[in-house]
Amino acid sequence: MNCTKCHYLLFGVSSGRCPECGVLFSATDFSFERGSVHFLCHHCQQSYLGTDSLGLPHPRTFTCVRCKNAVNAAQMAVRPLREGVVGEPLRFGAIWERRRDLGRIRAFLHTMTAVCTRPADFFRAAFASDRAGAVIFGVIAGILALAFWVTIFLLACYLLGYSPTIAGSPSRVTFQLILTFLAFVGAVLVWMYLYAYSICIALRLMGQPGVDAESVVQVVAYANAVLPAIPPICIFWHIAVVIVGLKELLSIGRGRAIIAAMLLPLLTANMVILPKLL
Ligand SMILES: [Zn+2]
Ligand SMILES: [Zn+2]
Repeated sequence: MNCTKCHYLLFGVSSGRCPECGVLFSATDFSFERGSVHFLCHHCQQSYLGTDSLGLPHPRTFTCVRCKNAVNAAQMAVRPLREGVVGEPLRFGAIWERRRDLGRIRAFLHTMTAVCTRPADFFRAAFASDRAGAVIFGVIAGILALAFWVTIFLLACYLLGYSPTIAGSPSRVTFQLILTFLAFVGAVLVWMYLYAYSICIALRLMGQPGVDAESVVQVVAYANAVLPAIPPICIFWHIAVVIVGLKELLSIGRGRAIIAAMLLPLLTANMVILPKLL
């Protein structure tokens, strides 16, 4: 039973968070040999044998026989009953983290769909150990959104009979297009990191312990999957997915997640809108 990120041994840990790297886990993220481990009530330490086919207590939620509190197997510490007991991980990683097995294009499309339709499930399965991969996903999603909206714009021009005129020699125009494209990619990258770090700062200011900046960057990057939606819907959707990701991947409470995710968008909106009103 090891941390999916840093491989720290998690037997006996009841906080639901790896003491070494801060990644979240549940006892039910693992399976055990039947009857090989005890699950301990987090109120009174009463032990329960893991008896079902996954070696977990059945049912998963029940009333503790000793202290009468409601307990959930997911939140219980696990104690091996003999030497050499292992917990096999049931958390298999987010779809994009398994792109080498699934094929990159298929994994990308599945990830786009999963983040848009089932973000909680998506982030719950993620290992959160692949920041570079997440950032690449975020940039590609941003480029797709740009390509989508340029296509819509050109289609609209065509349908309305308006032809955008481009001045300059073809080589110069190509050069400018490439520059604009690179600037766009740069802007997507800067925004992802700026947004992620604003969230980290907000969470620290609210006294949230153990915020893993790498995981926040991944949440923001995956949330880019919704960018091809119609503005301004995509902005609100993006923020909503980030809030879900903070809850599921970093186990931040809903209130704090909402405040942290809203901070930079609200500040930006103030800077853009207020000067126009004044
Ligand atoms: Zn760890
Ligand atoms: Zn108890």
